[in-house]
Amino acid sequence: MARIHLLSDTLVSQIAAGEVVERPASVVKELVENSLDAGAREVEVQLETGGKTRIAVSDDGCGMGRDDALLAFDRHATSKIGSFEDLERVATLGFRGEALCSIAAVSRVELTTAEQPGEGHRVFIEGGRVRVAEPLARPRGTTIDVRSLFFNVPARRKFLKTPQTELRRCLEVVQGYALARPDVRFLVIHEGRNLLDILANTGEHGPRERIGQIFGRELSDRLAEIPAVSIPLTGERISGFLGDPQTASGRRQFVFVNRRLLRDRLVLATYYRAVREEWKSEDFPALFLFLDVPPEDVDVNVHPQKSEVRFRDPGLLDRVHDALRRGLEKARGEEAAPLRQPAADPYVPFAWQGLGERRPVAWDGDRRDLPVTVSGAEPAGQADFPLNFPDLRDRLATPSYAPVQRAMVPLSGRSGEARPFRLLGQYKGTLILLEGPDGLYLIDQHVAHERILYERLRRAMSAERTAVQHLLTPPLLELGPAERLRLLELAPSLDECGFGVASLSGNTLALTAVPSVLTAADAERLLRTLANEDGDASGALAEDLRRRVLDALAASLACKSAVKMHHPLSPLEMEALVGELFAADQPYACPHGRPIVLQMTDSDLERRFGRR
Ligand code: ADP
Ligand code: MG
Repeated sequence: MARIHLLSDTLVSQIAAGEVVERPASVVKELVENSLDAGAREVEVQLETGGKTRIAVSDDGCGMGRDDALLAFDRHATSKIGSFEDLERVATLGFRGEALCSIAAVSRVELTTAEQPGEGHRVFIEGGRVRVAEPLARPRGTTIDVRSLFFNVPARRKFLKTPQTELRRCLEVVQGYALARPDVRFLVIHEGRNLLDILANTGEHGPRERIGQIFGRELSDRLAEIPAVSIPLTGERISGFLGDPQTASGRRQFVFVNRRLLRDRLVLATYYRAVREEWKSEDFPALFLFLDVPPEDVDVNVHPQKSEVRFRDPGLLDRVHDALRRGLEKARGEEAAPLRQPAADPYVPFAWQGLGERRPVAWDGDRRDLPVTVSGAEPAGQADFPLNFPDLRDRLATPSYAPVQRAMVPLSGRSGEARPFRLLGQYKGTLILLEGPDGLYLIDQHVAHERILYERLRRAMSAERTAVQHLLTPPLLELGPAERLRLLELAPSLDECGFGVASLSGNTLALTAVPSVLTAADAERLLRTLANEDGDASGALAEDLRRRVLDALAASLACKSAVKMHHPLSPLEMEALVGELFAADQPYACPHGRPIVLQMTDSDLERRFGRR
């Protein structure tokens, strides 16, 4: 019995559409690309219900004649390439001739277009079939109006997120092209409201101005230009902007290859490496990198949504690396890395608590501005006692490496009886060395502190009701339109965690309240990070999200505020640190999963010294 049969054209298109059209933002992407390929100077995107019910993209590009208007919706119908050789050097954003066909297979599409003002055509297509084609007067250009996306693919429709989330994704797409093409005017309207309206910037400062139009002047003023590298012979050009260290919390990192926004892992890895080398830092500043390479040197045909490319010349990454390093040098030169105010508090020593009784010791390292009080075991009155150490930086100038003479102290983990430990000292300002009953212990002070802060913050934040600190002078967050939407999406959960954000004019948000475990500055930094995190806020259960937010919060803050490597610590500080670490719920790995404690047992040592 024959069981194999050919699928119908409609079904084939619907299956193929799945590769190209995943959500409203993919439709926006394809349509905006088509408009730009058509030479538009103005692109307008109208959305309803986050694009779920309507996406209309209008342009003033070259338009289409009647035959083209009908043919455009056929599979593999394109005006952009004609031969395999063309495929080797694609200079347009589109070339596969699949987008319109795929979109039409899963929605109701109306196309109106005119090559000359007045002489236009209208085509209406439903589920891939042409219903109407008639003449129509309109200005030069094209409008493609997509309604009821996935009306015939319920499985896909169910997979879509809330209108707010889909809208943000659409905005992110337009924003990407707006950054790539400062010479084009972009307009995004959602249910009658202008979300983005930016005029064309054709001048020499166009790219920087464009960044300012989207993210605000605060960011664009902090950018240094990457010294451009051009190879006239091939047409290769590397250019762009890098932010100063203050821009690091925003996660605004954009890489464009031939005016196409991509998340290219190799280029980003090159960037991370350059920052580590040049700044010796894990704080990655804002990046807007434009790579223009000869079309034949980059393969764009490796991903159905064209979000990845392959470079034919591996030397390109080396040139990118050089350019970035020089840019980073400039970016930091314009503003010294922020230094914390030296502190004036007196040194307050305290005794090392025995650990069997799990009494967390307030360890603030160099974080005097973190108003953490440890919940839990302290006797009344002790919690608000300011257990601060003098700023470690003050003592960097005169580090003391005198050998320590410490007594044995009983220590125990959360379970198990106390065992004697002795502090031996500090190795290169980085590792704390302990003599234990069964061997030598090496503790990474940075990750140890990180773990302690993490647990402390989590405890404080997961308390029944998060203590909230209202800010009298709310800091303002100047955001991009998509970033603003992202934070508004998160607003209910943020509210639960003690954040208060109020929407002001434009894309500015005011931070009116913060969880009292955070300083306003830390809270602001965290919000900026969250604003650029991908992921879906609405789908998760509130409680689940709350845990995730808390975790992210605690991990990132703990990491940021933990005592750094190469900081000499006093014996008391080391003992306090180790003491609290051993009392932690999870003393052996940091919130990111790196080990904290290494142990060399007596038998390890004996074996190493050849005694066994
Ligand atoms: P591709 O962009 O890969 O060629 P599409 O399916 O996106 O394939 O579009 C098919 C063709 O329709 C394009 O090659 C182009 O000739 C025409 N077209 C689509 N959108 C527009 C537009 N906004 N203005 C002018 N022509 C367009
Ligand atoms: Mg296209």
